[in-house]
Amino acid sequence: MVGEGILKGLAETARNFLGSYVSKERLTTVQYPEERVPQIEAARNFPFLVYDGQDAEKGLRCVACQICEKECPPKCILIEKSKDKKPDAVGKQQFYPAVFDIDISVCMSCQICVEVCPFDAIKMDVEYDLPTDDRFEGLLFHKDRLAKPNEYYHQIHPTEANAVDSALAAERAKADAKAKAAAEAKAATPPAATAAAQPQPVGGESR
Ligand code: SF4
Ligand code: SF4
Repeated sequence: MVGEGILKGLAETARNFLGSYVSKERLTTVQYPEERVPQIEAARNFPFLVYDGQDAEKGLRCVACQICEKECPPKCILIEKSKDKKPDAVGKQQFYPAVFDIDISVCMSCQICVEVCPFDAIKMDVEYDLPTDDRFEGLLFHKDRLAKPNEYYHQIHPTEANAVDSALAAERAKADAKAKAAAEAKAATPPAATAAAQPQPVGGESR
């Protein structure tokens, strides 16, 4: 029947309007900003950078590989790689971002940066209340504003964060086992064998 959908919609609106006087469940709006609807786990808005431990700088998982910067469709990520290295989440020496900026006014919340990151270093935040009267610097998020602890990640996306933690723990255990096996093999090798294994100078002995 023509207009059936409109009539159904109006009936639902009327049900919610009248029902809201007697049932809280029928109250489909809240008095924002005093009241806020709790965010669901799958909610996403803009990206943030995850760090482990208490120190945002030392614990930042990002290794400045710049994959997210290259893949971001509107090119709103800017990264400058460090000159030196620091241990990453699994203890391997890696570069880190000396500069990591995201222009939130350009970001389209596509989550591609999260999907391409091989280090689980960038995730989607649920924060949406970001008003500012400075449309340039106010929406250009620098590393210190983007960095948030792993505990926060667990708070907003618990299922996902638990899976990431388990994968990182397995990777760390594998790296530790490899390092231990290498150290044991080195300790078990006799010094003579080590010396014999040294490369000889090109052209043999000098006259
Ligand atoms: S969510 Fe999309 S647009 Fe925003 S920074 Fe990531 S890749 Fe770029
Ligand atoms: S957030 Fe991930 S993909 Fe982007 S630079 Fe850092 S490690 Fe690489």
